[in-house]
Amino acid sequence: MNLIDGKKIAAELKNKLKVEVDGIKKKFKKVPGLTVILIGDLAPSQIYVKNKEKSAKEVGLNSEVIRYANDVDENTILKKINDLNEDKSVSGILVQLPLPKHINKKKVIESISPSKDVDGFHPMNVGNLSSGYESSVPCTPLGCYLLLKKIEPNLSGKKAVIIGRSNLNGKPMAQLLLKENCTVTITHSKTKNLKSECLLADIIIAAVGIPQLVKGDWVKKDSIIIDVGINKIDKGIVGDVDFDQVSKRAKALTPVPGGVGPMTIACLIKNTIDCFKRINSN
Ligand code: NAP
Repeated sequence: MNLIDGKKIAAELKNKLKVEVDGIKKKFKKVPGLTVILIGDLAPSQIYVKNKEKSAKEVGLNSEVIRYANDVDENTILKKINDLNEDKSVSGILVQLPLPKHINKKKVIESISPSKDVDGFHPMNVGNLSSGYESSVPCTPLGCYLLLKKIEPNLSGKKAVIIGRSNLNGKPMAQLLLKENCTVTITHSKTKNLKSECLLADIIIAAVGIPQLVKGDWVKKDSIIIDVGINKIDKGIVGDVDFDQVSKRAKALTPVPGGVGPMTIACLIKNTIDCFKRINSN
């Protein structure tokens, strides 16, 4: 079984991005900038933002985190986003989710300029992705896609089963795989007989949030399994795939932690650089 080392592949990607940023600095005499808005003090959000800031600095981006208390009003956030949209030194804007209940997530996402939407959540980017046009792509599915391409450069004709249909993971993942000419099945909580769907798959992307849902006898021999899940259980962090069982049958499998997670952050950096390039090519 090939253990897909997301940590190593993400480090390689970040090294390439660093070289690209050095080139941009020389060519444009500018540095791409990522601004993150963080509201409240949720511990996981604090950790994610810290890691994003660290990676941005490692590759040489300008990076700023703007922090607000949990009770900040929605207009303050919308006004700040508007200012950042206008700010030429900012290439990418990310509002860390989840937001406090009194702030409208849809309004916030739609207020970010699509050209600076490094999360790829703006409806314009979602539409462009599903139309097969150039767009920002949500970082986690983009990371999964790059891991898959590393293992299997030619995905054409493969049968892919995606578990989960969230806007964050399952749906954009399906678009990326369709573009690669995979035959894609998207499954969800109302899917009947998930196991038999999975048994048909050459590729499984598990993005559910149920610890170790995918068992060894759910997967075809020699399939490729990407585990997006991050679930805290008594013995630590596990994915949506039963690693011990599935590793005995799969051709390749991502570990949790150390699989998709590091790629998500590397892809955020990639998206920021891509936004800079798109803005500066006009
Ligand atoms: P989400 O928004 O809660 O969506 C979960 C999806 O799973 C939904 O579409 C749901 O179906 C489906 N589902 C639930 N129970 C199911 C079942 N028994 N069988 C089949 N499908 C089922 O979750 P998410 O935001 O996509 O995140 C999924 C997991 O990925 C979580 O563990 C999260 O922590 C992790 N994650 C990891 C990263 C990373 O960087 N590695 C990034 C983001 C998220 P319905 O639509 O019918 O409800």
